[in-house]
Amino acid sequence: MSTPQTPITILGAGIAGLTLGRCLRYHGIPTILYEKRSKEYTHKYGITLQPSTYQPLLKILDLDEPTFRKITAIDGNGHVDSYTSFTPKEEVSKCVRVHRGKFEQMLREGLEIKWGSQIESVKKDGQSYRIKVKNVTAFDTRALVATDGTHSIVRSTLSDSKLKVLPYVAFYGRRRISQATYEEIFKGHFRKSLVSHERKGPTLLQLSLSDITPEYVEVNWIYSRPSSGASDELLNPERSPDSANVIPEALFEEVSRLKDLSSPYAEIFGSQSIKNDRILHWLMRSSLLANNDLQRLAKENVLLIGDAAHTEPIIGGNGANLAVDDAISLGNWTARDPKFAGVGSWYGTRHALWEKSADLGIEVISQLHSDGVGLERDSKKVHGVL
Ligand SMILES: Cc1cc2nc3c(=O)[nH]c(=O)nc-3n(C[C@H](O)[C@H](O)[C@H](O)COP(=O)(O)OP(=O)(O)OC[C@H]3O[C@@H](n4cnc5c(N)ncnc54)[C@H](O)[C@@H]3O)c2cc1C
Repeated sequence: MSTPQTPITILGAGIAGLTLGRCLRYHGIPTILYEKRSKEYTHKYGITLQPSTYQPLLKILDLDEPTFRKITAIDGNGHVDSYTSFTPKEEVSKCVRVHRGKFEQMLREGLEIKWGSQIESVKKDGQSYRIKVKNVTAFDTRALVATDGTHSIVRSTLSDSKLKVLPYVAFYGRRRISQATYEEIFKGHFRKSLVSHERKGPTLLQLSLSDITPEYVEVNWIYSRPSSGASDELLNPERSPDSANVIPEALFEEVSRLKDLSSPYAEIFGSQSIKNDRILHWLMRSSLLANNDLQRLAKENVLLIGDAAHTEPIIGGNGANLAVDDAISLGNWTARDPKFAGVGSWYGTRHALWEKSADLGIEVISQLHSDGVGLERDSKKVHGVL
């Protein structure tokens, strides 16, 4: 069907789409990426990449590790030395906390990306697929890789797979502090690791840095706990994607009841300023497309990877790492099998790994919110090597 000269269509220019684009470019295979966001859009938060994820990427990007850290890490180094769920103890200090915006910026280099191109529909038309992009005439494609994330239009159009919401309340906030406050209160805390956790009973508090500039520093926080059941007004599993910024007053009442917080948790959660933070209500979503669906679609040259194929809860999940790993693995496969003739067997192996990762993600989020289970990074219960 497709030949190495025919550009492969990639829907979505997030972590999986961009990594795949770069990997295929490395192998001399052209791609065109369609992305609904504008070129100026930048994600402003940190993600933890494991050594097994970013080290294979260095070859494709032709970078050494110090340069990679300098370009992508929040502070030019990206040190993480606290609990990370999918990393064996001895590897934790090799993880890197990248700034997602800088990471994606670097991946974009040399790729053909159609910005502002929202895919509105994907329909079968004879041997190929007809894709309708907002404000653009529909076009046909013979090889399509969907990397359009958690709310994938390709998955929802071409399969019956549904997103499940796990029973955890989670809120994510961002506070901008002055350099002086950072130096005085926060710097020592983050010296060894850009991420830290503290637990109060089953409630998990997380702090991380997402930006350090000469003028200000951005601190991100997460407040999460198991849901108390269907009547829990902070869970709201049916909320629309557009209402994530509607924050119930009950959150602030609940947070104000936290006692004996250490510094700098006390400064973040124990202050009235929390009401002025930019806060989002998070749903802990999970999904895994059935192997049968993946095999069926692969026969028609429609492939899905990253969050579009398998979504893991943000807390305790491994989505970014799997997205990079999927893209490198598929890119290398495509170089050997450009017509995707045997890609079904690639899915066979991959799906088993996604299943294992999904199970582990659910176990990890449960352990993270279990009173009495340690958060220390050598806790065997919450580690898995994929
Ligand atoms: C705050 C935060 C922190 C996280 N931290 C970590 C972490 O530390 N470790 C970890 O492993 N994971 C982490 N994750 C999860 C991780 O970011 C995701 O799993 C990962 O981004 C998935 O990559 P993806 O390319 O599959 O999807 P995405 O990165 O979501 O990319 C999908 C892309 O498709 C585009 N798109 C969507 N629909 C359309 C459409 N109809 N038309 C065109 N374009 C479309 C989107 O705009 C987006 O650019 C975190 C997530 C968040 C939000």
